Amino acid sequence: MRVHHLSCGTFTPPLTGTIVCHVLLCETDDGLVLVDTGLGLGDYADPRRMGPARHLLKVASTPAASAVLQLQAMGFDATDVVHVVVTHLDFDHIGGLSDFPAATVHTTADEHAAAVTAPDALDRRRYRPAQWAHGPAWQLHGGRGDTWMAGLTGHEVLPGITLVPMPGHSRGHAAVAVDAGERGLVVHAGDAVFDAASYADTTPSGQPLQPMRKLRAFEQAVGRDRAAIARNHHTLRQLNATDGVTVVPAHDPRIFDDVAGSA
Ligand SMILES: [Zn+2]
Repeated sequence: MRVHHLSCGTFTPPLTGTIVCHVLLCETDDGLVLVDTGLGLGDYADPRRMGPARHLLKVASTPAASAVLQLQAMGFDATDVVHVVVTHLDFDHIGGLSDFPAATVHTTADEHAAAVTAPDALDRRRYRPAQWAHGPAWQLHGGRGDTWMAGLTGHEVLPGITLVPMPGHSRGHAAVAVDAGERGLVVHAGDAVFDAASYADTTPSGQPLQPMRKLRAFEQAVGRDRAAIARNHHTLRQLNATDGVTVVPAHDPRIFDDVAGSA
């Protein structure tokens, strides 16, 4: 399937420098599928919807960066989006859900429980229920799924699109692998890794990656399980080193610029 790389939100946190919200727009035989949404029109209309973290992160983008306006500019319609597959339910990944109210939203059962039905004290401070107040049609994927690759398991939620449980950043976090045909397998790692230098020595086009230490400190501060995060970095390094596989983290602008420029 054809895969477009969009950045649907930009933040300029003073501590870490500019970060993006990397979103995949997949053209499938059955309609459009988004992997994550970034920020949506509702977040720009009422920034309080994003919660207090917005003060730390400093939103630098405008509504034109929303997935819905970007895909309209490409000639699509909001109703063309039939599925959204999310890595997790943090506000910077799902703000656009309400711009596609008819879409089926795929997530792990663990992440849905953490955010929606059974949040603990930390989760209650973390997630933003206003972002799903429109009542999306959730499709939950429970358990580990089937054997996939690199010692991982996954749920093939749609043909060629696999939700790969990778908890650590949040309780039910997952990566999303998309079969991009001749362009290989694109693995959207979400927030399983922040700094691309944690899993790769170069960008896909071969530009050297230097560690972004402040971004790593931020990753540690907001993650739920540090041991799991370290294991995920190791797993993503293995995956990214596999022929035909490209790992893309949600927020590293160096990877976004590299792959969006070559798409
Ligand atoms: Zn994030």
